[in-house]
Amino acid sequence: PKGNLLRMIRSSVEHYAKHTALVFFGARTTYQELGDQIDRVAEGLRKLGVKPGDRVALILPNCPQHIVAFYAVLRLGAIVVEHNPLYTPRELRHQFEDHGARVAIAWDKVCDTVLDFPSDIRVTTLVSVDLTRAMPLGTRMALRLPLPAARRARDSLTAEPHGKGILRWERLLKHRRIGKNVRGPKADDIAVLQYTSGTTGSPKGAVLTHRNLRANAEQGRAWVPGLQPGEESFYAVLPMFHAYGLTLCVTFAMSIGATLVLFPKFDVDLVLKAAKKHPPTFLPAVPPIYDRLAQAAEERGADLSTVRFAISGAMALPPETVERWERVTGGLLVEGYGMTESSPVALGNPIGPSRRVGTVGVPFPSTEIRVVDPEDPEKDLGFGERGELLLRGPQVFSGYWNRPDATAEALLPDGWLRTGDIVEVADDGFVRIVDRMKELIITGGFNVSPSEVEEALGSHPDVLEAAAVGLPGRDGGEEVAVAVVLRDGATLDEQGLREYSRRFLTPYKIPRRVVAVEELPKSLIGKVLRRKVRDLLLETPG
Ligand code: ATP
Ligand code: MG
Repeated sequence: PKGNLLRMIRSSVEHYAKHTALVFFGARTTYQELGDQIDRVAEGLRKLGVKPGDRVALILPNCPQHIVAFYAVLRLGAIVVEHNPLYTPRELRHQFEDHGARVAIAWDKVCDTVLDFPSDIRVTTLVSVDLTRAMPLGTRMALRLPLPAARRARDSLTAEPHGKGILRWERLLKHRRIGKNVRGPKADDIAVLQYTSGTTGSPKGAVLTHRNLRANAEQGRAWVPGLQPGEESFYAVLPMFHAYGLTLCVTFAMSIGATLVLFPKFDVDLVLKAAKKHPPTFLPAVPPIYDRLAQAAEERGADLSTVRFAISGAMALPPETVERWERVTGGLLVEGYGMTESSPVALGNPIGPSRRVGTVGVPFPSTEIRVVDPEDPEKDLGFGERGELLLRGPQVFSGYWNRPDATAEALLPDGWLRTGDIVEVADDGFVRIVDRMKELIITGGFNVSPSEVEEALGSHPDVLEAAAVGLPGRDGGEEVAVAVVLRDGATLDEQGLREYSRRFLTPYKIPRRVVAVEELPKSLIGKVLRRKVRDLLLETPG
């Protein structure tokens, strides 16, 4: 794909000027207004000294200002760095140490965190975005901040609203529109630093160019049949500070003149309420969100039948989730696969009757895949053999920010990306994700697949959820341990569960330890963090 990401939104501003681009708690912004605000904020940032290649940190939940800021930064040829505003001060500090942005645009509730950074982090300009007026009180409460920040935010409600060194967002909007003579970015310029989820280690900043992100939006267009440019209503319940939400909600929606309904946080009531006014047609999400929406719709008789495209990714999609969603809404729920490093979508099921539940589908247009021996990525494996998935395509990134070693490990010289995921390709070409390489448990020289152990225990009637990890064992290797969340009323019978798992697992896979926990540690979008499960079990005596 030629050109930069701005071209896509420019053409929507031209063709759909009067259409509603954004909806946020009932407030609408047309495409014309959006284009205008982007140009003004771009000029404001330029006046603040933002230059091509500079990093600008965005620490915002989904909101109209986030979209405007995103494109305004790009307009200058500068680099957007996305952050989860609910990260702890420590996590945010690590990211700032890594990318070194001097300018930050932040939700006012996290401004204190930025101001409190140690002096070696030199943020010279902080723009504060006040969302309190736009958001109803209940939502504000629901957006739980990490404790210290929440306390300070509460205190700051009574204090002077904006101290020295902080600029209000509204000030940026007062500028004139940026001149056409100011050069914009080229296709191969960096657009975004998108940090990975940190499931297997600390998050790494994936460098995504305009070409990468644009390619993925275009591949998405080719994937989804019967799209009506200018007519669709996209629901952004996924955060746009994560690659999945950024591409499937934002850049995709903006490229086809869709109306984008923004939610700062997933909330069943908010979604069902918005659906009455702006029936959703496109709702990308993750399995726990589909479960909760389907359940609520069923209980309350709410109508979600307008959703033509429900797309799940980021974690395995259970068949029961598919069954329920499709029964309640009458629509299709299909699974795709991606990672931050591939902008993110790389595979998807056909959106139609030929989709296959339990698989992540087939490669996206102009995306190539290989399955190789993880020990020797030169060695290709065949259909039905389990191996590491490699990806190549226009959406694949060019490396991690500041991490030449990690980049060299992830990218083979000829452009193949090592996903670190173990997959199996069926004869018909559909791909099934089996495990993550880093999470394989090695016991007595054998590889144990955590998902296999989890499936075995998870099928027991007392068990709601299970997470299997390897703990240091007697012989210097690992032993299989499982954390389970029990169903209401059940009590842990460790021996019984081990006996039960014998029906499914060969002896070396039988867990040595089974521990009941209240809940499994999960990432913001609901991925089980096995790394943290492991820490939890290490701390639990037994
Ligand atoms: P980190 O790389 O920091 O450890 P992460 O890999 O979880 O974190 P993301 O880029 O958000 O960060 O997630 C990509 C990963 O998500 C993939 O490598 C894969 O393991 C998992 N994934 C994505 N889609 C699916 C899916 N449909 N089914 C199972 N796993 C999936
Ligand atoms: Mg990863």
